[in-house]
Amino acid sequence: MSRRGRGGGAGGGRGRGGGYGLGPGGQCVCPSCGYTAQHIVGQPCYSMKCPNCGSPMTRGS
Ligand SMILES: [Zn+2]
Repeated sequence: MSRRGRGGGAGGGRGRGGGYGLGPGGQCVCPSCGYTAQHIVGQPCYSMKCPNCGSPMTRGS
């Protein structure tokens, strides 16, 4: 009996822990009124304007 082999890899599954988090997405937030919107990939937050007050949005966390 030779038990060689590394018992089967149940590796993988690098968690995407629960939906949205930090990543290519994220959120933009209005520094003036606190409105948040989903960040659009490829479009910087500061190029969006807040629909409430018209201020440029910044990157939220
Ligand atoms: Zn605003």
